[in-house]
Amino acid sequence: MANTIQGIRGMNDVLPQDSARWLHVEQVFRDWAAAYGYKNIRMPIVEPTGLFVRGVGEHTDIVEKEMYSFEDSLNGEKLTLRPEGTAGCVRACIEHALLYNQTQRLWYIGPMFRHERPQKGRYRQFHQLGIEAFGFDGPDVDAELIVMLADLWQRLGLAGMQLELNSLGNADERAAHRVALIAYLEKFIDILDEDGKRRLYTNPLRVLDTKNPALQKMAEQAPKLSEFLGEESRLHLAGVRARLDAAGISYTLNDRLVRGLDYYNRTVFEWTTTELGAQATVAAGGRYDGLVEQLGGKSCPAVGFAIGIERLLLLLEAQGIACAGEAADVYLVHQGDEAAALAFTTAITLRKAGLAVVLHAGGGSFKSQFKKADASGARFAVVIGESEALAGQASLKTLTGEGQGEQRTLAIADLAAAIAAG
Ligand code: ATP
Ligand code: MG
Repeated sequence: MANTIQGIRGMNDVLPQDSARWLHVEQVFRDWAAAYGYKNIRMPIVEPTGLFVRGVGEHTDIVEKEMYSFEDSLNGEKLTLRPEGTAGCVRACIEHALLYNQTQRLWYIGPMFRHERPQKGRYRQFHQLGIEAFGFDGPDVDAELIVMLADLWQRLGLAGMQLELNSLGNADERAAHRVALIAYLEKFIDILDEDGKRRLYTNPLRVLDTKNPALQKMAEQAPKLSEFLGEESRLHLAGVRARLDAAGISYTLNDRLVRGLDYYNRTVFEWTTTELGAQATVAAGGRYDGLVEQLGGKSCPAVGFAIGIERLLLLLEAQGIACAGEAADVYLVHQGDEAAALAFTTAITLRKAGLAVVLHAGGGSFKSQFKKADASGARFAVVIGESEALAGQASLKTLTGEGQGEQRTLAIADLAAAIAAG
């Protein structure tokens, strides 16, 4: 095996033994999104780099150091593998006039790309389920999105998820806070790390989001945005809180919850777990009323969130939640040329009747074929040998569940009905 080519670090294959979990959560996602009236949208994985610089924000971790950007070698266009879905979703909505005199409730799922240090729950290609609601400015939709996530944890059987909530206010409130914050942070300029110094004037709120333990105390005592919120922002937050209370959802107000993307205002929230170490946030989102206009559309309120699917799957595993793979209904065993020919057409007939059938291929003794039939998890084996083939018959053996081990001989024409009956 000299000279094999390896996959890229931090970009993972999902192998057959793990894909049952993916299929399971994807199915739950679809039913759940539909239950709230959300429609699916699918955007390209590559977008113009400028979309993220403008949409996510120039002075964010994502744009400063995490994007996979390159030039199209044919026309020199600057392109980026999408690091998140919201900017592309907004671009698509503007481009196709989806926000013109109408509201939209949208969801999408797919891979995102960020050049980060790979570790458990943090990858360079990872997947998000995103939800975006456009055209709603009241706290009811913010609250419904949070309720929707609480419902998702329940549908998946997840326990112990914690909710953190904050308000980032509006632009004027953030500007007033910013002045106070910069004045405060300037006093600590000597102890700020390199990121902190660089962001002091470009994005001081993000200085508070530091993961550096030496800066924690300074961050804790910094002027709080909550003290700068005006009447409308406070009312909005109160509206969200009242609805969460009514839905019986508990939460922690976290003054220091800012988001890694610049476009948020008012409501921001994160659902976290204590079971995944530092990669604690499973779903995160909030309101981003300014983004549509910032990306060239007509001003339109918006709110949304994204779920990190790998973290969700790790959590399902940590909590021992089983997701059974889909087994076929029938494993079709056969031996001899006549039998092989009859088995081939029988498989077609059974599938037309709506059954999932694995047709054995590759020959081998009955014994080895039966081993494969058992390992497949199929409920039935259909067995066609030379004598059955001559008689236009097959034997039907129950491999699992009720009647396990029972075997009977049937006409090929009667097989589908017998299998469907049990
Ligand atoms: P973090 O603080 O963990 O880096 P973030 O604030 O950068 O998260 P968002 O941009 O809000 O994350 O993305 C939403 C969700 O997507 C995160 O809460 C997380 O579950 C998931 N996510 C983000 N980056 C990664 C990654 N590199 N690998 C796996 N999942 C990720
Ligand atoms: Mg990040």
